[in-house]
Amino acid sequence: MNIPFVDLEAQYKNHKEEIDEAIQNVINDTAFIRGNYVDRFERQYAKKYGIKHCIGVANGTDAIYIVLKMLGIGPGDEVITVANSWISTSETISQTGATPVFVDIEPGYFTIDPAKISEKVTPSTKAIIPVHLYGQPADMAPIMEIAEQNDLYVIEDTAQAHFAEYNEQKVGTFGDAATFSFYPGKNLGAYGDAGAIITNNDELARKCRMFANHGQMQKHNHKIEGVNSRLDGIQAAILNVKLNYIQNWNNKRLANALYYNELLEDIDEVNTPAIRKNDKHVFHLYVIQATNRDGLSKYLEKKKISTSIHYPTILPLLSAYDYLNYKKEEFPEAYKAQKEILSLPMYPELNKKEINYICEQIFKFYRGS
Ligand SMILES: *Cc1c(COP(=O)(O)O)cnc(C)c1O
Repeated sequence: MNIPFVDLEAQYKNHKEEIDEAIQNVINDTAFIRGNYVDRFERQYAKKYGIKHCIGVANGTDAIYIVLKMLGIGPGDEVITVANSWISTSETISQTGATPVFVDIEPGYFTIDPAKISEKVTPSTKAIIPVHLYGQPADMAPIMEIAEQNDLYVIEDTAQAHFAEYNEQKVGTFGDAATFSFYPGKNLGAYGDAGAIITNNDELARKCRMFANHGQMQKHNHKIEGVNSRLDGIQAAILNVKLNYIQNWNNKRLANALYYNELLEDIDEVNTPAIRKNDKHVFHLYVIQATNRDGLSKYLEKKKISTSIHYPTILPLLSAYDYLNYKKEEFPEAYKAQKEILSLPMYPELNKKEINYICEQIFKFYRGS
């Protein structure tokens, strides 16, 4: 059985007519950059989140950069984030001129460990970026408390966790702003690059909208210099269709994850992902911790099961951050996880038969046939 890591084709085939029509409408209306479809998406997305503002931007990386920049973060400032994430989270901090400060993960959950944040706060700290990694909500209650005590902004990197919930509240609605990616492989994915910012702060929303569009509110009225980071009409139209299905897809991902957990429970060499009580994990990725991880991934590859590692090197140990002189001993949990994590196939269309097959092969790897 050949099992891909994600199957974007299956999703397209299930919704082909609607998607094709949405794309054709944008072309008929020549609404390529911003326009009606983008406006509609922004309204719908904000409404689904119960948030005042949604600003569509070109991608999830820009979303973080734009928010940081419009919060006034720059040279001399420090921004706290988590050791295990995709580089967008930290490279955008550097792009503003500020310095990323990394914190270890909470074992079992892979998200920033709130107990280790306070020791990293200095007079230069301006913000915390928790990442809801793999679809797992970060532990927002203590994070918000630390932010309030130290007067720090909170920007939630929600690129991997559309409509996930922490304590029955949607992640992305806790901080000053939240950023999203709609990269094709994300839970809510466009057919190219796309991203968004949500916030209840009127002033921040106005600034982000202006900065993302060359610093202009009306055409040719440039209050400031900005960047070109706009959501395009075709991506917005596709997202408008997909918004109708995202809850259903998230539920299927969760059901698949719980089924994996059940089947893998008896394998001592494998630790399955934990879910906090009262949380809704949306399983962008299904990540196990496995003994002899590299052996297992090679074995599965031979059985035509695609796996991946998110991420092979934790951020502070990447060459890009050599200049910050971090040591692996400062991130014992993230460093340990880096060597054990393995992402198994996960997408809504993955079925029980396929999960049975994957788990059988894992069982065979550890027990022999
Ligand atoms: C995908 C991702 C981003 C960046 O999104 P792009 O749309 O690819 O720029 C940021 N943070 C995390 C955690 C991501 O997974």
